[in-house]
Amino acid sequence: MRKKEIGKHKPKMNKGVDRILILAPHTDDGEMGCGGSIAKFIEEDKEVFYAAFSTAEESVPPGFCKNILEIEIKDAIQKIGIRPQNLIIYKFEVRKLNYFRQEILEELIKLKKEIEPDLIFMPSLNDSHQDHLTVAHEGLRAFKTKTILGYELIWNNLAFNTTSFIKLDKRHVEKKSDALMEYRSQRERIYMSKEFILSLAKARGIQIGTEYAEAFEVVRFIM
Ligand SMILES: [Zn+2]
Repeated sequence: MRKKEIGKHKPKMNKGVDRILILAPHTDDGEMGCGGSIAKFIEEDKEVFYAAFSTAEESVPPGFCKNILEIEIKDAIQKIGIRPQNLIIYKFEVRKLNYFRQEILEELIKLKKEIEPDLIFMPSLNDSHQDHLTVAHEGLRAFKTKTILGYELIWNNLAFNTTSFIKLDKRHVEKKSDALMEYRSQRERIYMSKEFILSLAKARGIQIGTEYAEAFEVVRFIM
């Protein structure tokens, strides 16, 4: 009897979480790090905001227009279900985000006031990419009074503590993959494959005895 009553309760993790902000150093990092969770949040009618800090115009592959990543992110977030008005794009120079550390911090503080998010996703504090680390450090400074989860990008993480998980269904992982496939200019990257995306979600699911999941590092957890 008691067990049934317990079962009736909704999962506690998302209780009170309605406004979610994704911090992406480059346009595709947010979808890669937490795209399945975004798809799930959208399904749960949560308000998801996505801030990208660089459209990497200086490193676009030959044959593509300079603003291709700006075009592709718009298609990607539409696929995953984020409203176009919830996408914020900055144009800081790729690989030089650390040159603009203070400007980025000030923009993050503005976002905090405007959006009032209660959950923030950002790169791991153990990410080795200079742009990712800048966004993670400034993200922590700006949002230290909020719950912050660091997402994994395994090719950049020397170490990654899987201290929290979001359970996913296959449809969430497929939405993540569909969104990432919109980045036609990034197809050559070895991690831009449906097989990899599904495999990682499966591996993270197995860690917690479920079919699919995304793993995160707890930076801050406020109940
Ligand atoms: Zn990146």
